[in-house]
Amino acid sequence: MRTFGLIGYPLSHSFSQKYFKKKFIRENISDCEFKNFPIENINEFPALIKNNSALCGMSVTIPYKQSVMKYLDATDETATEVGAVNCIKIKNYITTGYNTDVFGFEQSLRPLLKHRHNKALILGTGGASKAIQYVLRKLKIDFLLVSRTKNKEEKTKISYSELNKEIICSHLLIINATPLGIFPDINNCADIPYLLLSSKHLLYDLNYNPPETLFLKKGKEKNAEIKNGIEMLYHQAEKSWEIWQ
Ligand code: NAP
Repeated sequence: MRTFGLIGYPLSHSFSQKYFKKKFIRENISDCEFKNFPIENINEFPALIKNNSALCGMSVTIPYKQSVMKYLDATDETATEVGAVNCIKIKNYITTGYNTDVFGFEQSLRPLLKHRHNKALILGTGGASKAIQYVLRKLKIDFLLVSRTKNKEEKTKISYSELNKEIICSHLLIINATPLGIFPDINNCADIPYLLLSSKHLLYDLNYNPPETLFLKKGKEKNAEIKNGIEMLYHQAEKSWEIWQ
């Protein structure tokens, strides 16, 4: 039996285990199992690897995508540049880290892009935002980060209160990389001037529960195109599976 798993904390609403269990049944994969490892501290990771000899691959979720890196034997180029790992391959106890969020986001965004989406706003500056920044650099889409905290020296970062008509109308791709609006806090959304949105805008929310977050609803009301994060999630899971094989 080959074992795959997920580390993070807490793991009560985790997507990965459900996804892979269904996949194993659907695709008649009978020699694999997927387990949750809700470790309270990332320093438990080395012992987890040592004590589970059947482990071939792991997904990594909040809050360990960055902190797990120092425990790995290697990280691939993309994960190193992003500074976050969400997929680990394990072979003979040797661990290698990858970032498949990057792949998932790019795959789901690309088909929606039009020439006018050459400037973006990324709301939030956490781990997911770093993967998004990597993809936008690759796609040569200029971006500004929107953050609750901003130093005067940071030229590519602005605060929510600085978002004005000129900025909103010239940045036609807006990506929510904050946890705002996810269940159960569904009446929450990032504080941007939604009234200035138009049908030229594409609003992408990394979140998917609920499928239409308040951020996306408010975009839809202004006829913007909207996209949630579920396809990104599926793409990253399948890419992780490919890496583990
Ligand atoms: P995170 O590190 O917890 O937060 C991201 C950033 O959001 C923070 O750094 C912060 O940026 C901003 N933020 C947090 N709380 C806020 C608040 N109350 N008001 C305004 N801004 C706030 O999360 P993450 O790991 O980057 O993930 C972000 C979201 O994307 C999560 O909900 C996660 O589940 C989702 N996600 C989805 C996928 C997918 O496959 N669909 C993949 C990865 C992540 P500032 O401090 O700069 O304001």
